[in-house]
Amino acid sequence: MDYCGYFFTYFSPYCASLEEAEKLEQLRFIENGFTIQASIYNAEIPSGIDTPEDLQSAINFIKNAINKNATLINSLAIKSIAKYLITIESEQCLDELYLFLINHNDKVLVLGEGSNVVLPDYFDGIVIKTNLNDIAMLTDSKVTVGSSFNWSSFVNWSLDNNFHGLENLSLIPGSVGASPIQNIGAYGVELKDVFVSCAFL
Ligand SMILES: Cc1cc2nc3c(=O)[nH]c(=O)nc-3n(C[C@H](O)[C@H](O)[C@H](O)COP(=O)(O)OP(=O)(O)OC[C@H]3O[C@@H](n4cnc5c(N)ncnc54)[C@H](O)[C@@H]3O)c2cc1C
Repeated sequence: MDYCGYFFTYFSPYCASLEEAEKLEQLRFIENGFTIQASIYNAEIPSGIDTPEDLQSAINFIKNAINKNATLINSLAIKSIAKYLITIESEQCLDELYLFLINHNDKVLVLGEGSNVVLPDYFDGIVIKTNLNDIAMLTDSKVTVGSSFNWSSFVNWSLDNNFHGLENLSLIPGSVGASPIQNIGAYGVELKDVFVSCAFL
């Protein structure tokens, strides 16, 4: 797949005739010979920053969500401090987070419960943690769960709700969000055996 081609075409000032006629920027790709995929996006679409009220809400978010020189909790109990620690409480915060990231040329670390990391005394960058604990049954064999849900609590929840397959992964420390990154495993079972997909925010 030619990603450079995609970006070049997407950002080029050239406006394709189909795009112009239909007012649909996706048509620029198709007219240039690229393929596109359409998917259903289940989450609420975050609002943009279009009005002075939106801007104020973004400024408030940044003020509230950012902790400077915050201590990072981790299993090894290393006293570690981050230049910035940002906690994401909902998907609606992501626009503001994006603005913050593009305005700060800092390295970024997404942290779960800190049970598989050795942190430095001082992390000279931005640490992002999520506080997303929603859990919902999609079908009688599919569940969606927020990234900060504690993994072992999720295994218990799955057993209480007659979802089977995670038993061997019981009591593994950490968060749901880290589980696909680490492909956690125990007693012959790995997450990849039951994992379907991950929403990358
Ligand atoms: C006593 C002990 C026993 C353990 N036993 C097992 C075991 O049996 N099997 C096993 O597989 N592991 C085991 N582990 C390792 C650990 O439990 C897993 O690696 C776990 O997935 C770490 O989760 P965490 O939330 O603490 O992740 P963290 O340590 O915070 O992060 C681990 C990695 O995942 C990334 N990450 C975390 N959250 C997210 C997110 N939301 N989005 C994107 N990236 C993210 C981080 O950037 C980092 O690279 C054990 C650890 C301990 C301390």
